Amino acid sequence: MAAMALEGMVGAAERAFGAWKDTSRLERRRLLEAWLDQVGRVREDLARFITEETGKPISLARGEVARAEATLQATVEVVATFGEQAVPYDLMAGAEGCRAVLRRFPVGPVLAITPFNFPVNLAVHKLGPALAVGCSAIWKPCPQAPRTSRLLWEAFEAARIQVAAPVHLLQLTGPDPVAAEALAKDPRIAAVSFTGSERVGRHLEQVLAGKRLLLELGGNGAVVVDEGVDAAAVARQLAPAAVAGAGQSCSKAQRIYVHRGIWEVFAPAFVAAVQALPVGDPMDSATIVGPLIDEATARRLDESLDRAASAGAQVLLRGRRDGALLPPAILSGLGESDPLQCEEVFAPITVLTPVASFDEGLDRAAATRFGLRASAYSRDQRNLRRAASILRAGGVLLNLPPTFRLDSAPFGGVQASGNGFEGPGWAMEGFTEGRLIVEGPA
Ligand code: NAD
Repeated sequence: MAAMALEGMVGAAERAFGAWKDTSRLERRRLLEAWLDQVGRVREDLARFITEETGKPISLARGEVARAEATLQATVEVVATFGEQAVPYDLMAGAEGCRAVLRRFPVGPVLAITPFNFPVNLAVHKLGPALAVGCSAIWKPCPQAPRTSRLLWEAFEAARIQVAAPVHLLQLTGPDPVAAEALAKDPRIAAVSFTGSERVGRHLEQVLAGKRLLLELGGNGAVVVDEGVDAAAVARQLAPAAVAGAGQSCSKAQRIYVHRGIWEVFAPAFVAAVQALPVGDPMDSATIVGPLIDEATARRLDESLDRAASAGAQVLLRGRRDGALLPPAILSGLGESDPLQCEEVFAPITVLTPVASFDEGLDRAAATRFGLRASAYSRDQRNLRRAASILRAGGVLLNLPPTFRLDSAPFGGVQASGNGFEGPGWAMEGFTEGRLIVEGPA
């Protein structure tokens, strides 16, 4: 993108913000409802494009579009209540008769940068709330899914024209990250909302010092499984959380710590449950594990499996790579400093580790710089409470897999996994600034 084009985009976003920021909730809600309606009209095309462009299995792509619709619906619902909170003020001498309200104001034009693994739903998680509070937005989509992003944006444009919202309220950029970084640095961009890798997130943090930067980064999701649970049932629940969509989910179950008391049942049951999930052609509606995003990534990960095996890891399951298709792999016996444990893997690779006690599992699960999602299975309520306090993550799931996400609920990371929550109401907080308005007695 040439400097002039960038200049034009930011200028247009500023003008759109000027025309949108003071609109009523009714107008903003109508726009989102119209967008929801337009997305519904193209839902099957959106799903097919996701599959064609990213290799996500079609049943999961359809699920993603359905979730995006749910996210938009939840955003519509929050518009009615978001933005004003009464604050009792007549609580000190001299403040009798005072009334106060904490009102939230849109920050200005925002830049939303999104990753490849949920090209529709994660975009909607940023763009819906930004527009809902009165911001204008520029969307930098992932480079891997241009037709998908274009179709989602066209659905928005159809909605915008239908309700006569300002032109350039939502602009779509090209795929170039360098141009996106230049946009992000423009002082007229009031906030940058980024979902993607830790590496790029940290880079943006450095180059955008002082700017409002909302980060949703990676994770290396841990699960702790206590003795006393139904090991086979838990294994069946965790299998898709580890490998669905080729494990390209930020909250995927990557490290599973299993109490030795159930190891002999759990490990084979988990291998069998993973093996039962269909691998292959992403256009086949039965497929759960499709290809990785590209062949180079699959090759690199396949090599990391070779390396782990030759370093002494036990290989409980592995298949032959075919281009970008890397069949699920399950390893055991890896040290905590192995990259397949301590880095984000983002692939259908899972490490099982037997532990002598639930507490040892919790300690090892918690010993990570990431903090997106973690989960623990136990029949002992005290253990579950301890898990919730020890596992330092933006979401702790008890007797549920780490991927279990409701789109209207808060979702985000702490530590190296991010700095706040998405979920419509929480994203709206990020796109607004608070102002306490105190009115004395007349
Ligand atoms: P990525 O970091 O490579 O890219 C994300 C986006 O940033 C892309 O649109 C890319 O083009 C853009 N980008 C890259 N460099 C940039 C720069 N210098 N300036 C501006 N934009 C730039 O991530 P990815 O490979 O697309 O996605 C996978 C990652 O996303 C994983 O780490 C995953 O955990 C993470 N993720 C996190 C969440 C969450 O909610 N926390 C959700 C999904 C994915």
